[in-house]
Amino acid sequence: QGSNSTFPPVLDPNEQILLNSFDNTSISEWSYYYTHGNHIAGLNQTMAQWTADRWAEFGFTSRLDEYFVFLNYPIANSLLLTYPNGSTYKPTLKEDVLKEDPTTSYPDSIPTFHGYSFSGNASAEYVYVGRGQQVDFDRLEALGVELEGKIALAKYGGPFRGLKVKNAQDHGMIGTVIFSDPGDDGNMTEAKGVAAYPAGPARNPSTVQRGSVQFLSTYPGDPTTPGYVSKPDSERADRTNITPQIPSLPISWAEAQPILQALNGFGTNGTQVNRTGWVGAIPGVTYSTGAGSGATLSMSNLMNDTYGTIWNAVGVINGTNEDEVVIVGNHRDAWIIGGAADPNSGSAVLIELAKAFGKLSATGWKPKRTIVLCSWDAEEYGLVGSTEWMEEYIPWLKNAAVSYLNIDVAVAGPIPDVSATPDLHEVSTSLMKKIVYPYRGATNLTLYDVWVHEGGEVGVLGSGSDYTAFLHRGIASIDMGSGGGPNDAVYPYHSNYDSYAWMERFGDPGFHTHKAMGQYLTILLYHMVNDEVLPLKPSGYVPEFKKYLTALDATVSSSDYNIDLSPLTAAISTFSAAARSFESLRDAAVSADDSALLTVQNHKARDFSRGFTSQGGLPAREFYQHTIFAPGRDTGYAPVTFPGITESITFDRNQTLAQAWVGRTARAIEIAASILQT
Ligand code: GLU
Ligand code: CA
Ligand code: ZN
Ligand code: ZN
Repeated sequence: QGSNSTFPPVLDPNEQILLNSFDNTSISEWSYYYTHGNHIAGLNQTMAQWTADRWAEFGFTSRLDEYFVFLNYPIANSLLLTYPNGSTYKPTLKEDVLKEDPTTSYPDSIPTFHGYSFSGNASAEYVYVGRGQQVDFDRLEALGVELEGKIALAKYGGPFRGLKVKNAQDHGMIGTVIFSDPGDDGNMTEAKGVAAYPAGPARNPSTVQRGSVQFLSTYPGDPTTPGYVSKPDSERADRTNITPQIPSLPISWAEAQPILQALNGFGTNGTQVNRTGWVGAIPGVTYSTGAGSGATLSMSNLMNDTYGTIWNAVGVINGTNEDEVVIVGNHRDAWIIGGAADPNSGSAVLIELAKAFGKLSATGWKPKRTIVLCSWDAEEYGLVGSTEWMEEYIPWLKNAAVSYLNIDVAVAGPIPDVSATPDLHEVSTSLMKKIVYPYRGATNLTLYDVWVHEGGEVGVLGSGSDYTAFLHRGIASIDMGSGGGPNDAVYPYHSNYDSYAWMERFGDPGFHTHKAMGQYLTILLYHMVNDEVLPLKPSGYVPEFKKYLTALDATVSSSDYNIDLSPLTAAISTFSAAARSFESLRDAAVSADDSALLTVQNHKARDFSRGFTSQGGLPAREFYQHTIFAPGRDTGYAPVTFPGITESITFDRNQTLAQAWVGRTARAIEIAASILQT
């Protein structure tokens, strides 16, 4: 990534106007607005309109785009533990109301529940299933634990929560309870002497993680309109293969404790199960499978299954090049009244970004490329607003989208985190040098310095936020944010405590990290829409391909399969040569000041990554078309590279399919290469 940062960063006049416009106090006001009203999906039209109105004030042409989608809301739920001797324990399934945190007592606070969960009752013995990944279930089966007809008790963390429910359902289990565990909270636990929120930065023991339990890695969006847009008159598909058919409930660690303790001494204890992530840190719990405990759970989950309108706010500044568009997205909906980190740290930043572009526009500046700001609704249910929008506008997006920039949890702690397609690696890392980034009391560091200090790697995009639909149609994408490490305040994800009060006190006192993240997104957007040379670097894929190939080689070697990867290696060489000649022709266009040739080259940079997509999608999941990266079928969040090949080995266990996907992946890479060449 070249040389170190200079400090203070050197900025050109437009960059100065944009970055100087950022004000942490103003961001805190936007944050305050978003975090003091109900904004669960489909119930937040006022906030959508407010967002569009702010953007309009700053010179964007704004509107609301509506979709009519399947949603569900909680009516009532309950859980009861019955011990073998007949005595009982009844969890409240409620988070504590805190006088220090005003929004925890709002009357329209949403109960703890799972989005898209199944309405039903279940009553049975229960088994602790670890993180609830397939490997965990394999281990339980190897231990001879009976699963059929039982309730699964799973720990949060690792795979997307919906996959925990899916795996339980696929093993004949009849319900799932998912609990948070302080073992995932690093050093910030009460057991290690740290006070719990609101007194201190450890997790409040009553914290419950809400969240969707749709089967994310099959397809995102409205589960009743796979691959097409949801309008009031849209045909509706059967959703039973994409939303659970057994009830599920989320629960706090404090209320999970007695339920887990009732399994102590039964079945195999946690240490002997010997699986990474199996044993947590709830006091007095052995994390035993619990087979034969005689303890039972009775659960009931009643949801109102319905269809409703959702609202995406959209704000546009037209560029002079009509066929080049950069989209910036953040979701607005949250499960809770707060949502100060998820997603409204990003929402607050987007308002401030619009304000900065308003100031720059006032000088007479016009972008070359069109800017489209999107405030998505219903991300939390399954990336619904962004996916339906992509499905509506796909012909235009396929032609014109230069890239999609996502900001969801802009701030949940001090450590920056960026994942992107490889063509964005260079521009996204070099622009970090222009941003002053506050870090653990230091005020003389750039984002680049901090990012290098924290490991300095751009991640691979998996899923879990709104870039997914764009990435899988071959659009260069980036996701940025920040979070905490093992010694930082525990981020109360999807709970009532992800509030303005928490953010102000623990997450980002003074909103300085908000400001820096917003400036970073702003400068990236500015260069994406302003630079003569579209700052996408196709050759950025080459070193990444080599890494993915090494990983694939290892996967093949550790399987029993014989797979010929030479077509893939050959395609990567072809691509590498094409990217080199593309870039030298682009340099030549710049030196010769040949704007017609530069336009052609910019369009190739925009288009080549469409070549990586495969029309029919990856095995067993049509929606996911990118052949280079995908969310893992048993991880949901974490990515898999060369997914068609890799998962044919690790998931489908099918050598023939894997070999076929070597061919398809190689062909996709060759198509991308040919787009760069022609
Ligand atoms: N970001 C949300 C979550 O992790 C939604 C992800 C999804 O359902 O695709 O719960
Ligand atoms: Ca759809
Ligand atoms: Zn989010
Ligand atoms: Zn979320």
